Amino acid sequence: MAQHFLVLTYPAQGHVNPALHLSRRLARTTSARVTFSTSIYGHRLMFPGSAADEIVEDGFVSYLPFSDDYDDGFDPNIHCPFEFHDRFRSASSASLAALLRRLDELGRPVTCIIYNMLFAWAGDVARSHGVRSAVYWIQPAAVFAIYYHYFHGYDGLIKAHSHDPFFEFNLPNLPPLKIRDLPSFLGTTSNEDLYSVLFKLFEQLFQVLDREEADSTAPTVLVNTFGELETEMLAVSAGKVKLLPVGPMVPPSLLEAVKDEPEFDARGDLFRPDEKKYMEWLDAKPKRSVVYVSFGSLAAIKKRQVEEFVRWLRESEWASLWVVRKDHKQAQGELEAALREAEAEGMVVEWCAQGRVLSHPAVGCFVTHCGWNSTLESLVCGVPTVALPQWTDQGTNALLMEMWGTGVRAEVDAEGVVAAEELRRCVEIAMGGGGGAAEMRRSAEMWKDKARGAVAEGGSSDRNLRAFVAAAASK
Ligand code: UDP
Repeated sequence: MAQHFLVLTYPAQGHVNPALHLSRRLARTTSARVTFSTSIYGHRLMFPGSAADEIVEDGFVSYLPFSDDYDDGFDPNIHCPFEFHDRFRSASSASLAALLRRLDELGRPVTCIIYNMLFAWAGDVARSHGVRSAVYWIQPAAVFAIYYHYFHGYDGLIKAHSHDPFFEFNLPNLPPLKIRDLPSFLGTTSNEDLYSVLFKLFEQLFQVLDREEADSTAPTVLVNTFGELETEMLAVSAGKVKLLPVGPMVPPSLLEAVKDEPEFDARGDLFRPDEKKYMEWLDAKPKRSVVYVSFGSLAAIKKRQVEEFVRWLRESEWASLWVVRKDHKQAQGELEAALREAEAEGMVVEWCAQGRVLSHPAVGCFVTHCGWNSTLESLVCGVPTVALPQWTDQGTNALLMEMWGTGVRAEVDAEGVVAAEELRRCVEIAMGGGGGAAEMRRSAEMWKDKARGAVAEGGSSDRNLRAFVAAAASK
């Protein structure tokens, strides 16, 4: 039977992007059919005007959504976050089962489901349909390793010290850690805590992996990283869970020439890029003279943090391109004055083509919230970073950037805000003429070459992906 991978993902930008890159890479490096599936809400944002039951094709991958019962999107102002888990799980698993039946009827039976790490239940749906499955972990292997140890004996130690961000300890296969370096959901102390909903999703995944391991079917987990980058961390659960690094999954144009296949580089934006002429603005700037600032698609910035940014901008010798999401602005209407001032000092956009920005020669450093996609994108573009981690895996990602020598972590004050003076200090390290910036650029260039090598034909991640496809075909 012809192989058909169904790549299942959550409708958030940081989840859609790596799933899309994996889907296209699978389709291009193998002869397998690939279908990408996100929720109806996400699908409509990716393909405005398309009907929920219509299959979209792009020449490489087919797109067909499932329903998670939040077809107009999850809105915390309307929906109860504590109902999210049960509603999401039951609606999505029923809809996934229907999707599998539909693809059967269309003569396109799915042979393997690759599911996002938040979809622990998808393996059960796959099994009841007689289909293979694998997990797609879209955070670093280091974060997988930390969760793994937390759920295998280290929870007591971590819980006992979770109030002290600077408490230091060791976990196997990981560098020395402080509490602040851990995924923030591990600091969840009660079921009343909003993040307990997300913590539960991770807990369930590790329960599923344990169960499968007990059935002596060491589950495969595809990881969006590469072997050269996280060698020790990938060995965390040797022999139990099979961690298979297949990344970095970033826009192909950042890794290789895609001039002849522009559609292969097509984007899966859930937000419309700002129409402002920010690329022309960048074109007019000298080499390495612009600081790019973005907190990704989810993190809302505190009012005082915006004010500190503006204070820094006012005195900075560097120009800045700053992404501020419209819905965040609306939620914080009182920020308008500060943002207007920021706009007078630099370029403020609502959404940009981040890959194009990071690979532009005018960009000298990236002030980032350390989302894993942004982290990998800056790495493959050889751009030094200033790390302002906010939540989830971002504290760990900031630590990794420091370990790789490509980033400097900005310290927060008592209110959890990075003051203008601290921003200036960090940007100076990443941009200035001192040895620090040159050293960071050298490290960034080295990792860029290794990342490109990993995904090139015959590279470590390319071999892993091909081996995964071959193993899925043989069973
Ligand atoms: N992104 C973009 N334009 C922007 C801001 C972000 O295309 O103006 C993309 C970015 O390139 C990355 C994704 O959105 O691929 C954000 O994912 P990440 O893991 O960095 O952060 P999250 O949004 O999940 O917090």
